[in-house]
Amino acid sequence: MATNDLLRDAAERAIRYLEGLDARGVAPTPAAISGLERFDEPLPAGPSDPAATLRLLDEVGSPATTAMAGARFFGFVIGGSLPVTLASNWLAGAWDQNTGLYRPTPGTAHLEQVALRWLLEILRLPPGCGAGFVTGATVANFTALAAARHAVLARGGWNVEADGLFGAPPITVVIGSEAHPSVTKSLGLLGLGRTRVVAVPVDGQGRLRAEAFPDVVGPTIVCLQAGNVNTGAFDPIGAICRRVEGTGAWVHVDGAFGLWAAAAPSRAHLTAGIERADSWATDAHKWLNVPYDCGLALVRDPHALKAAMAITAEYLPTQNDQRNPADFTPELSRRARGVEVWAALRALGREGVAELIERNCAQARRFAERLAAAGGEILNEVVLNQVLVAFGDAATTKRVIEAIQAEGTCWAGITVWQGRTAMRISVSSWATTDADVDRSVEAMIRVARGVLPPR
Ligand SMILES: *Cc1c(COP(=O)(O)O)cnc(C)c1O
Repeated sequence: MATNDLLRDAAERAIRYLEGLDARGVAPTPAAISGLERFDEPLPAGPSDPAATLRLLDEVGSPATTAMAGARFFGFVIGGSLPVTLASNWLAGAWDQNTGLYRPTPGTAHLEQVALRWLLEILRLPPGCGAGFVTGATVANFTALAAARHAVLARGGWNVEADGLFGAPPITVVIGSEAHPSVTKSLGLLGLGRTRVVAVPVDGQGRLRAEAFPDVVGPTIVCLQAGNVNTGAFDPIGAICRRVEGTGAWVHVDGAFGLWAAAAPSRAHLTAGIERADSWATDAHKWLNVPYDCGLALVRDPHALKAAMAITAEYLPTQNDQRNPADFTPELSRRARGVEVWAALRALGREGVAELIERNCAQARRFAERLAAAGGEILNEVVLNQVLVAFGDAATTKRVIEAIQAEGTCWAGITVWQGRTAMRISVSSWATTDADVDRSVEAMIRVARGVLPPR
């Protein structure tokens, strides 16, 4: 009984938290942050009432959160959680399935397969792809690039999993100079080196310049980007894929949020030719709006991914005719990440996903138009869900952003784009309405006018 009461109490507290998001500031108050000191207790000597632990978590923890689950958080391209995905997450949490292997966890392993089939369809990728449901796009980049490393060396007869990189034929790695740092970090983790790369120059939107792309020979991995984290711009992926065709080069695409453009009719042109690549990384916890953490490594040749990731041991009940999730991921024990992806896709359907992506893109343009009309300088072509806006010089723009974050109606982050300091607005939440955009723009303009010298 105590367990049921505890779980009901948690659900009620969570619901109250979500209901309160609209009325509170997006950033936590300084008082809420100082309140975190209440967590700094000595390690308890013995057990106590679990209800008291939950109460403390809510009373101290909830106010010290940023309202990322709300409608007016525009930082980091991350989105919130669709209600059906949060609810499914709660249920799957109760299941507590260690979804590494099919046989002991058939329900969650099966849902992962269905989610994968639907994902490939909605992202317009080859239906036979292998996939790892991992923690996010960083690990998805790492996982897909491990498959790439395996494949380009295996072609020359080198088994990198068995023999490592010492003495292996060198691999040329080509990236755009605006590649996301998670790509270079992954290259470092894989022994390929964060900076031992050929970095191709980019244009003013951060797109790799196709005419500057080098001729490639020998084992080569090319890392392209669908959706620059500042501008939302896409590398010329189709053109580069055609360019390296027949060379044996492996093309990987980091599409943490940009891959979802394929699901929206008016944005799908941005991803033209992307299906010719060999691997793709994306997030579900960004634009698909599922809870953390959930990213996807998608690989055209499932055998390359499995060769890089599978492990076997006598005590692990593997079953050859079923897909074991852990054969495709760095982790062995893992939570059932496919559940929320399945729930999101099932509840939204193809049209619902398209509507979400289209709406957020239109909202980004709405931000850009209104901020420009009020004197803001828009620094990027708003092709997707990203808006970069400057309010004068770097120091002034920084002061405006800090004041906007402190005012609390909404939250957007700071960035430096090709030398210009800017506010970075990412519209990626299911919860954001046009009224939320208008309310946020009004607050931004009001706050900016208070900071800027009178015109
Ligand atoms: C967010 C992002 C990543 C990293 O994703 P995580 O889910 O934070 O690991 C990688 N690449 C791009 C382009 C991104 O936007």
